[in-house]
Amino acid sequence: MPQTIASELAELRARSLLRSLREMDSPQQPTVELAGKKLINFSSNDYLGLATEPALREAAKAAIDQYGVGAGASRLVCGTLSPHVRLEEKLAEFKRTEAALTFSSGYATALGTLGALCQKDDVIILDKLAHASLIDGARLSGAHVRVFPHNHMGKLESHLAWARDNFPEARVVVVTEAVFSMDGDWALLAEIVELKLRFGALLLLDEAHAVGVIGAHGRGLAEQLGLAGAVDIHMGTLSKALGVSGGYVCGGRRLIELLVNRARSFIYSTAPSPAVAAAGCAAVEWMLSAAGEKRRQQLRQNLAQFASEMPPLFSGERKVQSAIVPVIVGKAEAALEAAQLLADKGFLVPAIRFPTVARDAARLRVTLSARHTPRQISGLCAVLRNIAAG
Ligand SMILES: *Cc1c(COP(=O)(O)O)cnc(C)c1O
Repeated sequence: MPQTIASELAELRARSLLRSLREMDSPQQPTVELAGKKLINFSSNDYLGLATEPALREAAKAAIDQYGVGAGASRLVCGTLSPHVRLEEKLAEFKRTEAALTFSSGYATALGTLGALCQKDDVIILDKLAHASLIDGARLSGAHVRVFPHNHMGKLESHLAWARDNFPEARVVVVTEAVFSMDGDWALLAEIVELKLRFGALLLLDEAHAVGVIGAHGRGLAEQLGLAGAVDIHMGTLSKALGVSGGYVCGGRRLIELLVNRARSFIYSTAPSPAVAAAGCAAVEWMLSAAGEKRRQQLRQNLAQFASEMPPLFSGERKVQSAIVPVIVGKAEAALEAAQLLADKGFLVPAIRFPTVARDAARLRVTLSARHTPRQISGLCAVLRNIAAG
């Protein structure tokens, strides 16, 4: 007998792994109203507070007035609307690449890009902690998939050697995040670049949580480390620090032309609303402005305050590397309890559980924003210290 849907849900609940949607009746900002309760929000990826920024709202409104709300069809079918073209020009300028292509989401970007680049005789090598969209894209492509333990360069090297020995004709793509979404740490980019060059592989770097936060003008980790020129496929999303939605790839003209022709999530999906593209373009312009630099400075200050009030989280090797700070709890049940305790005290911090993270590594995922006040941060730290003290 197949398992019923009801018993499957009951099983998830019994293992503290059931998830549910809670209505938020306020904009995404440092204080939110969730299921009728006011909470201070330490759960959002809107690291710079751009989701509610006036310049972006105005850009979206102006685009609606000029183009309406819907894009009508896939961009290859009806003609591509000007706001999408402007956004891609702006992204290529921002990332200093020849060209760019945008997708409806970061998830669609990963699926479309890996599927366009790799087929069944190719090889994709991923960091174990790479985002689900990258794993799904690798699987869907039909390529041989190999995974190396997080930032384990010895294993990456042996996978590359294996790929070259067994599939000399294959396209080999190394895939990693720049800032890891659930741990907040960085990829060992210099070492990865050395290996990908040595073995003639391509490198896809997903800067989802780095763009806007790290590097000059928020250009990302590759820029920060002076390695942008060695990255073949610069992937990212407009949905996090950029405050809007939609994913992108920046890279060479030929790469982008291949994606236009082969990326199924681009070809067979209606273009995003022109309002979203216009807001995205305003977000990239804002990154390059003095206001952008100032807001990044505020975020750095907030992170420094958090670190100084929570020294146990940053002992030994651990430094603040991004706006994401994991507080590892262990069991899913304990993480849920801690999140509930925080909510009772007025703080929204999500419990992250399997399968998003490993079974025994459930955690609170704290994300900071440039818009948090010193008081809000101190308040959170006090509750976190209480939880740690049991
Ligand atoms: C969020 C995220 C994505 C997906 O981007 P969306 O625009 O939310 O679909 C892809 N990769 C990483 C590393 C992410 O954190």
